[in-house]
Amino acid sequence: MLKVIKFGGTSMASAAQYAKVKSIVEADPARRVVVVSAAGKQNPADHKVTDLLYLCHAHLRYGVSCDSVFGMISRRYLEIRDDLGLQTDLESELEKIRADMDAGIREEALVSRGEYLSAKLMADYLGFDFVDATQWLRFRLDGSVDKDTSYAALRALAEGRKIVIPGFYGVGPDGSIKTFSRGGSDITGALAAAALDADIYENWTDVSGILMADPRIVENPEPIPRVTYTELRELSYLGASVLHEDTIFPVAEKNIPLNIRNTNDPAHPGTIIMEHFDSDGSETDRRFITGIAGKKDFSIISICKKGLSSQVGALRKIFEIIDAHGISVEYTPNGIDTVSLVVPGKQLEKQKDSLVSRLQEVLAPDRLEVIDGIAIVAAVGRKMAGRPGISGKIFAALGDEGINIRMISQGPQEVNVIVGVENKDFNDTVKVLYNSFVK
Ligand code: ASP
Repeated sequence: MLKVIKFGGTSMASAAQYAKVKSIVEADPARRVVVVSAAGKQNPADHKVTDLLYLCHAHLRYGVSCDSVFGMISRRYLEIRDDLGLQTDLESELEKIRADMDAGIREEALVSRGEYLSAKLMADYLGFDFVDATQWLRFRLDGSVDKDTSYAALRALAEGRKIVIPGFYGVGPDGSIKTFSRGGSDITGALAAAALDADIYENWTDVSGILMADPRIVENPEPIPRVTYTELRELSYLGASVLHEDTIFPVAEKNIPLNIRNTNDPAHPGTIIMEHFDSDGSETDRRFITGIAGKKDFSIISICKKGLSSQVGALRKIFEIIDAHGISVEYTPNGIDTVSLVVPGKQLEKQKDSLVSRLQEVLAPDRLEVIDGIAIVAAVGRKMAGRPGISGKIFAALGDEGINIRMISQGPQEVNVIVGVENKDFNDTVKVLYNSFVK
């Protein structure tokens, strides 16, 4: 049994948090591969070390001294070390970083040092070996990860050992440090789990799993005990954010379960994410809806023309025009002789006139309409498939509350029902759906 276990920034923020990490790791001998983030915030007013490192680099770029910012970073790590009573030689590590800064260090190399220092300290504290990300995680020239080479390298390095790996970065073909986008330690953990064919990837953070709805809209939403990769993609795409959105691909490919857990509440089972679940018969398992998510500020472009549906090539022409304007189409709820395209309002904003005149010129529609200020809300649930009455319940609930639905869409896999409402009705729509399906 092997568990790859990743700790986020708040779990690495202080000596007290390191102690929690240690007891979690030591509670289960299968937890042999640990991936860590840089030190995060200890409280809302605190700074993330990675943010400070980006700030440091900006200072260097403009030739401004970053001594005070670098001092804050150094003190954070020295304090954690001293509070834990460790002997780790951080002074030489910090001196080396300082010297590299004077020599014109690249941004990606500098911002990776938060994870590097966290992993050095955590390895010492746990009595595990430190394995640098540059020893195994290889990026290609195009920025993608060379999985075959990386996985083979990590397999060799991890064989028979207990290790701590820094998240967030790896090495490019030219030997220089490359980072993922922000929050990328989640991806490192997923890659490590996939490389080592782990039985589970535990992602420890500061929330007890993924919530059924945004807690800023719904009061005390319930956590989701089990969610499939597909459902999670739908939810995260529309704004539910706990993990970096690229995290699930490496583990989904190998069908490794991903468990989101809370370092501050280790007894809570959190959320399990998997390809498929057999029913466990529990009350929460009988729910049709797994979660509700949404985003504001879309626009709907509707093109109506008699005979449009039977006209060969009409859709191709429409999409070519949209493509040429660099706009992405999110949903296409169509009717006979009407094609509607839901697009991000921000992308459309500056191009609206040119796009509309081009569509008019090429398609000569009977009517062309653009509605701005649309919010998209999705009720996501694998158990909706083949179950009659769910959409009816959604529409009835919204109708009872006087919310006007401007658009409806459902994918062929039936894992979601999507409604478009006016931006002003966004919060109410989320609440109404939550209340009618969860409460
Ligand atoms: N430390 C990096 C960041 O703040 C990566 C991570 O924590 O996942 O974005």
